[in-house]
Amino acid sequence: MQRTFSIIKPDATKRNITGSINKIIEENNLRIVAQKRIQLTNEQAENFYDIHKDKPFFKDLIEYMTSGPVVVQVIQGDNAITKYREVMGATNPDNAKEGTIRKIHALNVQENSVHGSDSEVNAVKEIDFFFNLNEIVG
Ligand code: ATP
Ligand code: MG
Repeated sequence: MQRTFSIIKPDATKRNITGSINKIIEENNLRIVAQKRIQLTNEQAENFYDIHKDKPFFKDLIEYMTSGPVVVQVIQGDNAITKYREVMGATNPDNAKEGTIRKIHALNVQENSVHGSDSEVNAVKEIDFFFNLNEIVG
């Protein structure tokens, strides 16, 4: 059993499709064990995507991630980190497999509806940043 961190991004909260995304998560045997709707600050978004700070899309990315509410989640299941990355699909929805969240819902490579941790170290770090232990009930 493993936990990963997820964000349902502003393009999805704007279109009121958080339930459809959660349905896909649950249909894939992953369990949402914590979730809350928040507005990211500029500072939070910049820290979160710090590894991309030198990329040409960084400024746009921060604007987008702070353009509306997000839903932050802790997702639990067997092999949850890799599994959720598979359920999300490729970063660019044009390259995402049928049935994945991004294939079904993403608008483009930036407005791609969801984030999922890419490693165990990052999953622990990201969960710890956004959640208190008593908010996660597995
Ligand atoms: P995430 O980290 O959000 O889970 P990812 O790991 O699939 O997504 P990254 O390469 O880490 O992809 O990029 C982080 C985010 O930056 C992407 O999810 C997307 O919103 C945005 N992004 C990535 N590449 C581009 C690009 N070429 N143009 C615009 N935005 C991009
Ligand atoms: Mg990433």
